[in-house]
Amino acid sequence: MTVTTQTTQSERLFERARRVTPGGVNSPVRAFKSVGGVPRFIDHADGAYLTDVDGARYIDHIGSWGPMILGHNHPAVREAILEAAQGGTSFGAPSVREVELAELVTRLTGAEKVRFVNSGTEATMSALRLARGYTGRKYTVKFRGNYHGHFDGLLVEAGSGLMTNADRLGTAAPSSAGVPEEYAGLTLVADYNDPDALDQLMRERGAEIAAVIFEPVVGNAGVLIPTPDFVDALQRVQQVGALLIADEVMTGFRLGLQGACGLLGLQPDLICWGKIIGGGLPVGAYGGRADVMDFVSPQGPVYQAGTLSGNPLAMAAGLATLRLLEADPDVYARLDGYTLRLAEGLQAAAQAAGVIISINRIGSMLTVFFHPGPVRSYTDAAQADTAAFAAWFQGLLARGVYWAPSQFESIFISSAHGDAELEATLTAARAAFGELR
Ligand SMILES: *Cc1c(COP(=O)(O)O)cnc(C)c1O
Repeated sequence: MTVTTQTTQSERLFERARRVTPGGVNSPVRAFKSVGGVPRFIDHADGAYLTDVDGARYIDHIGSWGPMILGHNHPAVREAILEAAQGGTSFGAPSVREVELAELVTRLTGAEKVRFVNSGTEATMSALRLARGYTGRKYTVKFRGNYHGHFDGLLVEAGSGLMTNADRLGTAAPSSAGVPEEYAGLTLVADYNDPDALDQLMRERGAEIAAVIFEPVVGNAGVLIPTPDFVDALQRVQQVGALLIADEVMTGFRLGLQGACGLLGLQPDLICWGKIIGGGLPVGAYGGRADVMDFVSPQGPVYQAGTLSGNPLAMAAGLATLRLLEADPDVYARLDGYTLRLAEGLQAAAQAAGVIISINRIGSMLTVFFHPGPVRSYTDAAQADTAAFAAWFQGLLARGVYWAPSQFESIFISSAHGDAELEATLTAARAAFGELR
């Protein structure tokens, strides 16, 4: 593996970017703010590797934050996009790939109807409006440290980039300037993995609650896995007439073709997707019960629209990706096997170096918490040693391993990761843990 410590071109580009873009990036976690140093500007990506503008090559562990489950630049996905582009890039009128992807998504997930949008944020935002329109109720419930995108109503005690920004830890709602308290006040917040608190909230306020939105496996506080009791409590919220909205933007098609809800045996009313559903192009979607989805315009009274929604290139990338996943029944077992071996190797490496960590992992999602564990909630995660994480991150990066640049994110393994990548990653990790003492 060629590793260079020179980041001259990235430094120059970051300087230029900062002059014309807030913080030099178009999404906050990319700025390396919590781990320090200059973000690497990526020149190209292939399979399990990213190559930056200075020619350094990294084993990628973020997969564009989830979408690249087949690895970067997969030939079949690339061909599908190129073929679609030959026929024009946007019509503003319906086209066949939208129907095909909707048919595929409904068949795989059990959702009866689906609407495509352009990002995960749009999907959760639209699903919440739909839940309010359908139930005629005002309030929604979310969980502390879950992240559902950047729109106002859900930027309340949110995870992901907001958790990374340490001075906001522990602050009450809202999580961002510019979100009126009155608006945030319509969002009630409960603790993840606390079934009693959720039951109590639903007993006291259930009749006012339009929806409970949740990450079925949390990725945005680092990986948090729901307990069986909590899963049962989630399913119970439907008893008071609130809609259960599973935010599978990260977990959908990542933890299996039926998503995390399929794994957990949960039956939500609505599901939100993003990331993998677009195969690396900007796509989101929401779907679920037909009687609820029929409230969406033009069929129903809940307005939602998008100039580029169902874009032919994006649909082609999503279709190619989902078809490849469906055609390879072992793919999820292979991803799981790789990530299990990675988790075991990392735990052993930390132990050998005398570094205390705790790993949360499910399928191809994994977080190394610099915390003795167990890490079950936002509150646990927030106690992790972020300075140790940052040092370890830099140790990996210098050795050609690109980890998620925040303690509070998952990493994502792709089907392009193999034995060579596993060995090289563990070798780098051993050295990086060794430097922490
Ligand atoms: C990434 C993510 C979102 C937001 O999706 P964008 O495409 O970034 O708007 C929403 N919910 C979850 C669970 C996510 O992981």
